[in-house]
Amino acid sequence: ISSKKHIAVLGSGGWGSVIARIIARNVLHLKRFHPIVKMYVFEEFIDGRKLTEIINKEHENRKYAPGYKFTKNLVAVSDALDAAKHADIIVFVVPHQFVDNLCKSLAGRIRPNAIGISLIKGFDIKTGGGIELISHIISTKLLIPCHVLMGANIAGEVAAEKFVCTSTLGCKYKARGSFLKDLFNTPHLKITVVADEDTVEVCGALKNIVATGVGFIDGLEENNRYKEAVLRLGFMEMVQFVDVFFPGGNISTFFESCGIEDLIVTSFAGRNRKCSAAFVKTGKTFKELENEMLNGQKLQGPPTAVEVAYMLNSKDMTNKFPLFTVIHQICTGKKPAKALLKCVDDNIARR
Ligand code: NAD
Ligand code: 13P
Ligand code: CA
Repeated sequence: ISSKKHIAVLGSGGWGSVIARIIARNVLHLKRFHPIVKMYVFEEFIDGRKLTEIINKEHENRKYAPGYKFTKNLVAVSDALDAAKHADIIVFVVPHQFVDNLCKSLAGRIRPNAIGISLIKGFDIKTGGGIELISHIISTKLLIPCHVLMGANIAGEVAAEKFVCTSTLGCKYKARGSFLKDLFNTPHLKITVVADEDTVEVCGALKNIVATGVGFIDGLEENNRYKEAVLRLGFMEMVQFVDVFFPGGNISTFFESCGIEDLIVTSFAGRNRKCSAAFVKTGKTFKELENEMLNGQKLQGPPTAVEVAYMLNSKDMTNKFPLFTVIHQICTGKKPAKALLKCVDDNIARR
């Protein structure tokens, strides 16, 4: 029996594939990890062939990360439990709407001392009025600790390695944080570790709502002034949200890759921004646009807006978060996109 740590990556979309590729390369020169990395793939057929089979034969996820070869120690499997049952470190990177089912398939069947790390952006709705962090859902359902990695990372940009990207690993245990960091760190993806796990995760989820708002401004072809204002108001609501609902964090975390930088990058280059601009221009629903524009990839901003609105409504706090609130109302068709301009005008000078 080897004491080398086994790694599983659960998820193989755009980010899942790119991060699995990095991990599989890294473990080849990090002796304390087992060299085989298992990746759970939600099975689908491409030109009549199973995606897992394509990945294992051609060492490339031709659908979600085309053009980027995996090293041969990356093994795709279509059963999440098969990937995770012997793993010591489990990387969670499915779109957040699929976390509940994923956890159901694993509960009670993984190693009791496994460690989780979530790269998933979004929240889970708690019956009775609140929301729950995805890492807490994983932790509670699987009875393992779960840390987070969030940052200004557009999957295709990180894969291309044309410039240096950064990401923030939230782990409250110092030694474990630096142990986990080695899995993800490369000369083109520099990882910073902070102890403030909740703030890292909340930033990652909330910035997708703001990016959705920036996309509305693009779709309206409005003055850039409005975009800048949505970014600033959005950043303020992110800080306030953490302060009210996840207090005890460190303001410096907002200046890490997971904070201001991810907010800006997603608002310029993300899928949420692209689809919300099309939402205004075409009048189609987000579901239709996701199907037409993203080739199987999933939007996180509109569902996250629903989760946040659910909590703000149940706590009677929508007036304290006018930007998040109006973005949700626009996403769900309750207000026209132009309502965002009025919200900005009304709130830009507020303190
Ligand atoms: P993606 O949106 O590119 O792809 C969607 C994935 O979901 C595919 O692998 C698809 O097979 C899978 N899927 C479809 N139906 C499913 C089901 N019923 N059950 C389980 N899986 C199903 O995925 P992604 O970009 O890897 O996103 C995962 C997480 O990573 C998200 O929370 C996202 O916010 C975050 N993230 C993404 C990026 C990025 O640039 N793509 C960067 C940072 C973080
Ligand atoms: P999108 O989902 O909008 O593409 O954003 C990806 C992301 O999370 C960047 O960090
Ligand atoms: Ca749930």
